[in-house]
Amino acid sequence: MSLLDIKDLSHSFGDKQLFKETKFQLNKGEHIGIVGPNGAGKSTFIKICTGQITPDSGQIFRHPAASFGCLDQYAQMKENITISDFLKSAFQSLFIKEEQMNLLYSKAAAGDEKALPAAARLQEQLELHDFYQIDTRIEQAAAGLGLLTIGLECPVEKISGGQRARVILAKLLLEQPSVLLLDEPTNFLDKEHVSWLADYLSGLPSAFLVVSHDNEFLEQSVNRVCDIHNGRLTKYYGTYSDFLKKKTFLQEEYIRRYSFQQKKIKETEEFIRKNMAGRKSKMARGRKKQLNRMERMENPDVTENRPCFNFSQLPVTNADHLSVRHLSVGYQYPLLSGLQFSAKGGQKIVITGFNGIGKSTLLKTLTNQIPALDGSFSFSEQVTIGYFEQDLIWDDITKTPLQIVSDCYPSLPIKKVRQHLAQCGISSRHAGQEIGSLSGGEQCKVKLCLLTLKPCNFLIMDEPTNHLDAAAKEALKNALKNFTGTVLVVSHEENFYRGWVDRMIQIQK
Ligand code: ATP
Repeated sequence: MSLLDIKDLSHSFGDKQLFKETKFQLNKGEHIGIVGPNGAGKSTFIKICTGQITPDSGQIFRHPAASFGCLDQYAQMKENITISDFLKSAFQSLFIKEEQMNLLYSKAAAGDEKALPAAARLQEQLELHDFYQIDTRIEQAAAGLGLLTIGLECPVEKISGGQRARVILAKLLLEQPSVLLLDEPTNFLDKEHVSWLADYLSGLPSAFLVVSHDNEFLEQSVNRVCDIHNGRLTKYYGTYSDFLKKKTFLQEEYIRRYSFQQKKIKETEEFIRKNMAGRKSKMARGRKKQLNRMERMENPDVTENRPCFNFSQLPVTNADHLSVRHLSVGYQYPLLSGLQFSAKGGQKIVITGFNGIGKSTLLKTLTNQIPALDGSFSFSEQVTIGYFEQDLIWDDITKTPLQIVSDCYPSLPIKKVRQHLAQCGISSRHAGQEIGSLSGGEQCKVKLCLLTLKPCNFLIMDEPTNHLDAAAKEALKNALKNFTGTVLVVSHEENFYRGWVDRMIQIQK
């Protein structure tokens, strides 16, 4: 029996149909990567699986004996609790059993004969659930997700948003539900921790669904891929690269069939046009009927909305654009100290290093959002900065992308605003939709649209590829390659920065 069985699923937002009478099954041991372009409906699907969204129609069967655990990066955490205690709460039911067992052993010691076998039964249950390895398991998950560097005795209210998300993920993994549902879990992880998570997941006996745009992570972690495309969920067996091969083959085959159909349509139309009035008119009418009845294949070229980012460039010289001298960055105390580097005009630099080490804090300092704790930095006079912040935070989530871009660039005619948004992969329907209801990737494209409109010659970007699908990542890569100004980008995606950056700054403690 399936752990999750979905039948006849249909769901729309307004006139956009995300799912159309589609089906899906998750069976024991299946490790499924959910993929598809931005806005295809991946997060919506996860929310349908968890019951957060009730679909327009369809039957959803969740196995009654299965426990479902979903990653909620914004989950509430009790205050005044340490990371260690928060992680231990994953085993709450076992700790309760331990207390009961201890009580029974005390009773047995006091002469209660019935208490001893009951205590032994509880002990067996605890051993079955690896209760006596809890500390080791916590250590392993904490080390894997980079929590040991924060310190497990650190109170949860003192940690950053990214660290919080990792603590919540660690607890979810420790709970070991029979079905794990993860929506883009790698967005808050650096390369090493992504690799640990992929390894951990691939070795899980339980089943999981994971939404991700990170190809390397998917290759390492899943044994099935479920592709969301044009309202359908298609399950492919095998690794992510098996899926890519199969999908390319099917796409090529589709294009061949489409071209054949187009040729047939053209020939038939030609035949009808020539013979409607002559002695073959009966035949021509028959062909016309056939043509009207024909189920037309969708043009493969127009099914995907490929973005193209074009940064507005200001002139650049080869002189030093930025020099950083003995800089310390942080909040109450320094996260990074003694930073020393410079960037010449036109240089492309990637900053890498562990999550939580202070890369975003460095960018926030360089863009004057927080003061430097010590040392200094200076940009040359000719520099104009364009900054891309990691978080998808909006002043007013009820505004539409059209309003947001128009408010930021009031002199731009609305027609141009639409064009720019469309170029960045935001369709006219999404341009008029509340920003808060757009998918992560769509919101990210709106932010990139705002940035491309700002004339600048120095781009500072904090993990710009989080949330972006493969086509958008490729488009951003090309745009940055062609940008003649300086680029300082924080990224953990080697696939994204390889080939166009000319320097790497690896930040270490
Ligand atoms: P991404 O890769 O960008 O994270 P996704 O595949 O996870 O995308 P979803 O977040 O599921 O996409 O959104 C699917 C589509 O449904 C998007 O086009 C989005 O704009 C739309 N959508 C989602 N929620 C709402 C809502 N509450 N109201 C209207 N439209 C919505």
